[in-house]
Amino acid sequence: MKPAPFTRHVPRTVDEAVRILSEVAPRDGRVLAGGQSLVPIMAFRLAKPAHLVDINEIAELGRIASDGKTLSIGARVRHAAFHKPVVAGPLGAILTHVARHIAHYPIRMRGTFCGSLAHADPASEWCLVAATLGATMVAKSTRGVRQIAAKDFFAGIMTTALAEDELLTETRLPIPPPDTKFGFNEFSRRAGDFAMSAALVSYRLQDGKIADARVGVGGAEPSPRRIAQAEATLNGQPPSDKVFRSAAEAAAKAIAPLEDHQTNADYRRDLVRAVVRRALEQAAS
Ligand SMILES: Cc1cc2nc3c(=O)[nH]c(=O)nc-3n(C[C@H](O)[C@H](O)[C@H](O)COP(=O)(O)OP(=O)(O)OC[C@H]3O[C@@H](n4cnc5c(N)ncnc54)[C@H](O)[C@@H]3O)c2cc1C
Repeated sequence: MKPAPFTRHVPRTVDEAVRILSEVAPRDGRVLAGGQSLVPIMAFRLAKPAHLVDINEIAELGRIASDGKTLSIGARVRHAAFHKPVVAGPLGAILTHVARHIAHYPIRMRGTFCGSLAHADPASEWCLVAATLGATMVAKSTRGVRQIAAKDFFAGIMTTALAEDELLTETRLPIPPPDTKFGFNEFSRRAGDFAMSAALVSYRLQDGKIADARVGVGGAEPSPRRIAQAEATLNGQPPSDKVFRSAAEAAAKAIAPLEDHQTNADYRRDLVRAVVRRALEQAAS
């Protein structure tokens, strides 16, 4: 099938984009970024936006920059930008590792980091990164600019705190200390498929004991989130197989699992148990 008819707007600046969006959003207007989620939905006529505000010609949104404390990722930065580290240290390395798990090469060449957050698929790897690391999303409209913390941004399956006339212009990731250890693991039936569960973990070692533990789980609940019970199990303990298994068990218990045609709650808990343990093992290796 072909998409229903629509009008495409091609602004050259952010100000022009938000002005157009304010006009067309109430008339079923949407932002078009990489189109890797929106266009297939339109082709199936599951979405029939009357207007698309195409942000691909806005040069200022292609910016990716670090000031040593924060990594800023503009709305036009593609998944493929992360095929090589975009910043020195463990953050750049883990983003490169995670990026390889997103879809397939052609999709990564076009789809955007911020588009993934705006789309908010529960299994999105970038949403998991944003939730685990405590990203800040910058949203702009003709009414002004808002900064939205990740914990307030994700509001359920494909639902965010963005208003219909807001453009997500940038995501800011805090850059962790250089001794931070990261691990990531996801399970999908075939390479390139959406994850059925995924885990991103990080911690530091102080006097041989785990500190500042972060355990994020995605693909298991409507939105990715940190699991406080798993983090409490880790903090203050020396890394060991026993401690990692306890944290994985705590995560599996803490989630309220999504169920679908291929995954019941028990299976999803098993997956979470496995991906959290494997991510912790990777961080320790
Ligand atoms: C076969 C296939 C496999 C895939 N596998 C994965 C996977 O394993 N993991 C994964 O994470 N993703 C996967 N994807 C989705 C892909 O990563 C998309 O690129 C991503 O979800 C959306 O980014 P986009 O830039 O393409 O956004 P678009 O498709 O352009 O937009 C998606 C939605 O977000 C809105 N939007 C986009 N950008 C903004 C913005 N800056 N401000 C406000 N609203 C905005 C749009 O209006 C639309 O509603 C897959 C896609 C396909 C087709």
